[in-house]
Amino acid sequence: MMPIVLPRNTPRRFYRGGRKILAWRGEAVPDTFDDHRPEDWLASTTRLFAEGGDGLALLPGGGTLAAALAADPAGWLGPAHMRRYAADPGLLVKLLDAGERLPVHAHPDRRFAARHLHSRHGKTEAWMVLDADPDARVWLGFRSPMSSAEVADLVEAQDHRLLQALHEFRVSRGDAVLVPAGQPHAVGAGVFLLELQEPTDFSVMLEHARFGIHEDDAWLGLDPDVAQSCVDHAALSHQRLSRLRSRWDTGWTAVQSALPAKADEFFRADVLDARFADAEVEAGFSVLVVPDGTGELATSTGGRLPVHAGQTVVTPYSCGDLTLTGEVRAVRCRPAAGPDSRTDPPALRKDDGDTNPSDSEAAT
Ligand SMILES: [Zn+2]
Repeated sequence: MMPIVLPRNTPRRFYRGGRKILAWRGEAVPDTFDDHRPEDWLASTTRLFAEGGDGLALLPGGGTLAAALAADPAGWLGPAHMRRYAADPGLLVKLLDAGERLPVHAHPDRRFAARHLHSRHGKTEAWMVLDADPDARVWLGFRSPMSSAEVADLVEAQDHRLLQALHEFRVSRGDAVLVPAGQPHAVGAGVFLLELQEPTDFSVMLEHARFGIHEDDAWLGLDPDVAQSCVDHAALSHQRLSRLRSRWDTGWTAVQSALPAKADEFFRADVLDARFADAEVEAGFSVLVVPDGTGELATSTGGRLPVHAGQTVVTPYSCGDLTLTGEVRAVRCRPAAGPDSRTDPPALRKDDGDTNPSDSEAAT
């Protein structure tokens, strides 16, 4: 197999956006563009929970990636991955262009998803900011501890106070933020993200009325009290918040981890910067997103693919080890490591040693 350039995959969503995705990809805005294509689901085998259930990525030949993966899971995913996840790729990657502020929402963790949603995956996610308008912002975590009754009151009111209850901060290109399952959050207008997620579409929409979201969908078909119980009501301290943030664009080596260490249990993102040196990485299922430059991706099985800014590429395990060369930088998104990955040389990271047992509840 060879690395495959992914075409755009932008299902219709309830909120506006998508022009930055087209511009980033170097594509013209279609005459029929409806301004509700804010997400590009890259190499997705996940469907939307509602809104028509689209989301599956197509390969250039026309079939779905899900079908190709089912036909040859070992070739696509490799043995270490399959020992942990079987034929499940374990990852959802998106480009997200927030044309308007997204509603305040939270995602279930694995325990909640297993108990109430028949899924092994919750939806911890991470944001890597590719571009942001001046003064663009995001919101994450309650500033003060909240009782269930207080959250229920804010949800009932459906007004601005829910957003005001969250930490608010500006973001710019190069910021990365880990959003643990359970933490309420919102992305502001003008933020353009590369997003890594556990591969589900489980969102508890605390704010839904002004976005026209049906209550059944807002609560994932669950009792509202049960759905809201997935929300982390504790205050997110400034100290914890700072440990959820990092920078992805301040690299000083050819391969460097881009996300806070606590992301590793869910997914991995490495910045491959061939401007420093040839970036050589081991074989594995991954999604490459190319924000800058022009170069070439070579495989140890003899493949060569020209790459340039605005491309997204999926690499099957069986294409072998990868080498990125040229004046180019790419973000390599991968699922969490398989159980025997300790034999893999870890990518260098800037925040090693940044662990705190008190944070572990957010990652379970
Ligand atoms: Zn989210």
